[in-house]
This record gives sequence, C-alpha cells and structure tokens, in this order.
Amino acid sequence: MAENEEKKSEVKKEIKEHHCSVCGKVSDATICHACEEKIRGEAFEKKRDIEKG
Ligand SMILES: [Zn+2]
Repeated sequence: MAENEEKKSEVKKEIKEHHCSVCGKVSDATICHACEEKIRGEAFEKKRDIEKG
C-alpha cells in the first residue's frame, strides 16, 4: 500500500488552502462569505449615499 500513501501526499500538495484576501481566514474563495457580504453592504450604502446627494 506504499503507492496509496504516495498518492495521498500528492493530493495533499495539490489542494492548497485558500485564504480570504480581506480577513485572512481559510476560505475556498478569494474572499470569504462574511467579507463578501460586508463588501456588498458597504457598496450598497455608498450607492445610497450618492443617490441621496
Ligand atoms: Zn474574509
């Protein structure tokens, strides 16, 4: 079963842990869900401010 072990470590090497570019937490996306929501909310507020004048 030595072959199996090799395969396992290879897969481990391939799967790199992604980290959120905003908070640095482990996430499969560039930006984690929490930060995405936050950014979306901020953008929405900004837009509202502009529309408000
Ligand atoms: Zn984040």
